[in-house]
Amino acid sequence: MFETVLYPTDFSDVAVKALEYIKKLKASGAKEVIVLHVNDIRGNDSVLRILGESQFNKLEKSKREITETKLNGIKKELVDAGLKVAVRIESGMPVREILRVEEEENVAVIVIGSHGRSNLEEIFLGSVSEKVIRKSRAPVLVVKR
Ligand code: ATP
Ligand code: MN
Repeated sequence: MFETVLYPTDFSDVAVKALEYIKKLKASGAKEVIVLHVNDIRGNDSVLRILGESQFNKLEKSKREITETKLNGIKKELVDAGLKVAVRIESGMPVREILRVEEEENVAVIVIGSHGRSNLEEIFLGSVSEKVIRKSRAPVLVVKR
């Protein structure tokens, strides 16, 4: 039933916790997982202004390397669990990119963390997960912190 899973991750604790549930979805027919990280460009203008172009590009390059390393680790874990994995890195605004990838791929279920890197105690739901739940076509499995 849940053949293609979209797993957006910001590498936060809650997003990492979601991995265990993705593995369990195998029993419900999951075959392929699209692991998506969005390089959040909000705030880039001020960082660029402060650092200058050359330092900014260096920072972006090292961020990308760290992202690729983390995504490869996740990929290995899911492949070892017997799933097919596609990894994507997109730059932009997280909600928009998550919904764009959902449109592009034949996504049957989205698995997302209730919270992410901010993980504020008093917040009921992170802003990315809230908007994805509101706007996605596919059902969403929200993994709680
Ligand atoms: P906020 O960002 O509103 O301050 P938060 O960081 O606690 O709050 P969200 O950003 O909504 O919470 O994160 C919830 C989930 O959304 C994460 O566990 C992750 O699955 C997904 N997510 C958040 N940011 C990204 C991103 N940049 N790329 C991919 N997935 C993301
Ligand atoms: Mn966040």
